[in-house]
Formats: sequence, structure tokens, C-alpha cells
Amino acid sequence: MSTTSLLSDVFGFDAFRPGQEEIVDAVIAGENTLAIMPTGGGKSLCFQLPALARNGVTVVISPLIALMRDQVRGLREAGVEAGALTSGNTPEETDAVWQALEAGTLKLLYMAPERLASGGTMNMLRRAGISLIAVDEAHCVSQWGHDFRPDYLRIGELKRTLGVPLAAFTATADAETREEIVEKLFGGQQPSTFLRGFDRPNIHLAFAVKDSPRNQILNFAAARKGQSGIVYCGTRAKTETLAKALSETGHRACHYHGGMEAEDRRIVERRFQQEDGLIVCATVAFGMGIDKPDIRWVAHADLPKSIEAYYQEIGRAGRDGAPAETLTLFGPDDIRYRRQQIDEGLAPPERRAADHGRLNALLGLAEALRCRRQNLLEYFGETPGPCGHCDLCEKPAEVFDGTTAVRMALSAALRTEEWFGAGHLIDILLGNATDKIQQRGHDSLPTYGVGKDYDKRQWQAIFRQMMGHDLLRPDRERHGALRMTEHARPILRGEATIELRKDTIKAARGSGPKVRMLVSEEDAPLLSALKAKRRYLAEQANAPAYIIFNDRTLIEMAEKRPMTLDEMAHIGGVGAKKLENYGRDFLEVIAGATEEVHPMRRKLAGRDEGAVYDRLMQVQASLNRGPHGADKPMSCSASMLAKVAQLRGADMEHLTRVIGDKYAERFGDAFLEVLEGN
Ligand code: ADP
Ligand code: ZN
Repeated sequence: MSTTSLLSDVFGFDAFRPGQEEIVDAVIAGENTLAIMPTGGGKSLCFQLPALARNGVTVVISPLIALMRDQVRGLREAGVEAGALTSGNTPEETDAVWQALEAGTLKLLYMAPERLASGGTMNMLRRAGISLIAVDEAHCVSQWGHDFRPDYLRIGELKRTLGVPLAAFTATADAETREEIVEKLFGGQQPSTFLRGFDRPNIHLAFAVKDSPRNQILNFAAARKGQSGIVYCGTRAKTETLAKALSETGHRACHYHGGMEAEDRRIVERRFQQEDGLIVCATVAFGMGIDKPDIRWVAHADLPKSIEAYYQEIGRAGRDGAPAETLTLFGPDDIRYRRQQIDEGLAPPERRAADHGRLNALLGLAEALRCRRQNLLEYFGETPGPCGHCDLCEKPAEVFDGTTAVRMALSAALRTEEWFGAGHLIDILLGNATDKIQQRGHDSLPTYGVGKDYDKRQWQAIFRQMMGHDLLRPDRERHGALRMTEHARPILRGEATIELRKDTIKAARGSGPKVRMLVSEEDAPLLSALKAKRRYLAEQANAPAYIIFNDRTLIEMAEKRPMTLDEMAHIGGVGAKKLENYGRDFLEVIAGATEEVHPMRRKLAGRDEGAVYDRLMQVQASLNRGPHGADKPMSCSASMLAKVAQLRGADMEHLTRVIGDKYAERFGDAFLEVLEGN
């Protein structure tokens, strides 16, 4: 049967949706394929139809048991032999699947990834005449996403064992996740890749700066009373307080987050699916697997973590194609919080840099000057015109020429060699004679005090917009210091101008409560880096984080920034044992890679003997070839030096007993001098 007749006869559709046909053709032709399509774009058809067109069985791997069962039911109703092996099966169902497989009648076999862990399954699949592997939600193979499923890592092996083509599907578009999929599912061989159809024209897009955010959400919900909606929140606590506030104002609302019992979560999922007009206040844990077509609105009470996360979350609205609305709130604290999350994560540095870039992209969208949809789709590689259906198309942003301000800011960053964060740079621009500025002589920079046309909050808004334009990125290796990107060069050189939004800068003047922070803005990125190290060490040791060092200790480290083990030893909470176990790890975070320190020397860290040891090393080095530099090179072992460093009131005889005649002859006098000088 041709693909078009399969499409109409089996699936009952009269045409392919944008993007589907090319994918279907590639999969039928037996190519390895990776298809990135938005949620609701019609991915399942892209492996179901080829499964029917090809000989043999297609095994479909999906993490979502409920969706698998739905699809199997749908296919069977359409007369297709499909079955699922999941933990939700009755024994009869499982038997029926095995029988159909043996009889060679099964066309699609759905399977949860956990099944791949059993050797029995692998054997069974080898014998079953599998001709294609389809992987749904392929981003679950990414270790850095929150949907990571370790069993997805077995799929690559399955592909190698069976030697059949693989078709992977996901709605997650970022380049790093795509690379990970290629690496882990396709063994690094580039599959045919399809990226299409990201526009969801029925979804209205809007952003707003936070300004009594609870009321903003309540007003938004009040205007849509009786409609099903989701409010995404940045913290678990907020899901609860917002759900309560919504209930108190006459909505039906409940909360949902990963800290709830599985059973309670299931109750919310079921209610949301079945009831009309329920509002769920949730963390991102409420997501994959929500298949409700008539969600009428999605609000973000806090800024999502990246442009992809934003897209995926708003994409849950309006899957039925009817109008749906969204509102995303954002403020400076959100951005700080998201940056912190990235810095405290355990992802490798390249990945973190990319995450900052993706957050920048979302800031760019939040503070866009023109059509949001255009901005969003351009990020995903499409080139649409203005949509006419977003807040900015309806009411264009007021802009001003920000070239001068941006150049001042860039110049402040460059003249301080890109070693500082926004807080310090703003102090320079405003001419604040802080201790730090005086210590470093930054009050003599030509940019000192040139930015007095704006106040501190307005400068913060400008820096935020600069990050939104990806002119500056925080560099984790430099503890959040802002570094210029290539995009900034033409502006700096006077070859390009830049417009900034007026409203976010106006709104910034003196608004909002001051947030309480553990450390100053300048030290926050370092604290995050220290916490990340602590988490890593805690995971290695399989111990709770505070066992390594408690927060107070890390805060003191972030503020005092010890540069040597001796300085580290003076931080509260850093005892001898911990200094020995972890001192170097944390020092490395603060001071960058440190010189290898001999373990004998490490034991003396923080004590006077440590300094003595260092001086002994110095004199020893100067006498290495004897007083005239002509003798045979010679030096004591580290443990000898450590012993000497700990001698009290020693004389030559005593010293000779410790290091022996030969060494005493060359170094004795010099060593005694050091010991006496102490
Ligand atoms: P997702 O990409 O999120 O997996 P689905 O495969 O569940 O999306 O498809 C979303 C909806 O679109 C389903 O209801 C499906 O039946 C419908 N659909 C898919 N392809 C077509 C098509 N060519 N024409 C009409 N409806 C389609
Ligand atoms: Zn628009």
C-alpha cells in the first residue's frame, strides 16, 4: 500500500502535516533518522506508518506507559497488530503479545526502557525479526536533562546488536541535546535530521516584568475563569501557596510537584485529565505525559530555565488547535536564580556555557523588541514574518537608542579585563568608591562615574538586556565575571547601534522588594561553584552535602577567597581532617588549578610549621648544588623536611640525628637559622 493510502485508510487523515512526509519517507527507506517536532506535531505517525509499510516488527521505546497503552489501543482499533510490554500489563496481555510475536503477526511492539535491562528481552528481540527501532522522547538519553532515563543508554547497544535502522523523536530542540542523542543512540554517526513545524499559531505569547506577581497571576486566571490552565512555578513551595490563593479566589486549583507522594501526583494528573476547568500550579515535574488537548492557558509565575523549556511548557496549551493563551513573568531574581542553578549543576563546563547561552536566548525573548513568535521561531531555525498574535505585535515596545550605555558597560568590562560581575561594573559606572574599587584602583579608570544618567536598578536592567542580546555571558570559570561575546564587537567598534527597551528600564526604577541573599551579588557565583563542588564530593562519598562543609563554611570561603591551604585552614569549619580531604578541591574552585602540594606539606597547612617548611624548601633550593653551586645536587625528602619543620629548640646534633650527616653537612647551618628565626 502507498503511504498516502495508508495515511487515509489506516489513520483516517487526508494529508500529512508539515514535515511528516519527509520523515516518513526517510524512515521507510531505512535511514537512521532524528526528527525534532514540537509536542502535538504528530510524531507518532512518523514511526507508526513506516512500521506498517516495512517488513518485520518495529519496536517502539517510550518512557510513558499511559501514552503507550493509549497508542496501542488506538492502533488496534484501526486494525493494526500492536502490543505493549510494560509493568502495567496483566499476565494475559503479556502472553498475547508473546504469542503474536511468535506467530509473526505483530507489527508494533511498544516497550518501556526498563525492559532492556533484562537479558531475556535482548534475546527475545534478537529472535523476533525486528526491522526498525523507534525511540520516542529521545531526549531522555541526555544525562543533563531532567527527563534523563538511565535505561535509554541501553538503546545504543540494542541498535548495534540488532543491526537495524533507528528513528528517534523528540520535541527538545537544543543543539547539545541533539548531539547527545546522536552520540548515545546512533553511536556518533549523524542520522538524517528533521527539524520542522515549530510554529503553534493558536498560542498567544506574552511576557511581563514581575510587579506584584501573585496579583498578576490571579488577574490572569480571573480573566479565564472556568478554563483549564497550568501555572508553572520555580519552587515547590510556590505551587502550594499559589494554588491556595487561587482556591481562595474561587477557582478550582491544586498543586503538583516532585516532592509529593506518587499516589497524590497520580490523583492530580487524573483530575486534570478528566475535569474541566481545573488549574494546576506545578513545577516542571508536571509535564511529559500530560496529554490533555484542551489546556486553554499556561502561565509562568517564574522565568523558565531556557528557551527550550519555555517552548515546551507553553506548548502544552492548545493542542486541539483552538486558541490558547500564555503569560510569562520574569524579574531580576529569576535570572539570578536560573544562573545559580546552572552554576550549581554538575554538567561539564561546555554544557554549562551553553546553558547560559540558552538562558540568554530566553532573556532575549523576554525583552524582545519585536514580534515574539518571530524571535522564538528564529531561534529554532525558521524564518517567519511577524505574527500579529503576540503582545508585542499588538502593542510594540517603546525603545531607545542604547548604544552609548551599552558601550560604556562593555568598556567597563574590558578595562577590568573581564574579571568582574555586573555589581562591580555598575559601581564603576556610577562612580561608587567602594572598598573593592579603591583597592583595585578602579576609580582611576576612564569609565569611572560616566554612567550617572541611570541609577543602579536601571543599569541592572541594561545589563540584563545586554545578556538578552547575548553581548555578555557570565563565565563560570571566573565565578560569574561577565565576558564579552563576538556579537558585542561591532557595537564596541561603533559599527553597529543597538536599541533597548524603555519600559523594563522605567519599571526598574526603585521597584520591588530587596531580596535577601546569602552573600553579595559579587560572591554569589563563587558560592554556587563551591556548592557544586560540594555536591559532587557528597555524591562521590554517598553522604549528605553538609557532611563535607556546611553552608556557613562555604559562604566564608566565597567571601574570604583563601588562595592557599594555609589560608583555607583559617576558614571556620575547616578542621585538619577536612582540610586534608577536601582543601585542595575547594581551593581549586577558588584559585583555579593549584600547584601540586606534597602530602607531607599539606599536613602542616594552617600551622606555623607550614611556613617553616616553605622556608626550609627555599634555603634547600638555594643550596641544592652547594654554597658555590658546584657540588652534586642534593635535597632532603619531603618527610625529612616536615620533621625538621616540627623540631623545637633544635641544635646541630639533634638536627643531624633527623637528617643524617650527609644532609646536615650541606644544609645544617641554613636549616638551624630558619628554625631559630621562627
Ligand atoms: P506528538 O508529536 O506530541 O507525539 P501525536 O503524535 O500524539 O503528537 O499527534 C498529535 C495529534 O495530531 C494526534 O491527535 C494525532 O492523531 C494528530 N495527527 C497526527 N498527524 C496528523 C495528520 N497528518 N492529520 C491530522 N491529524 C494528525
Ligand atoms: Zn507577534
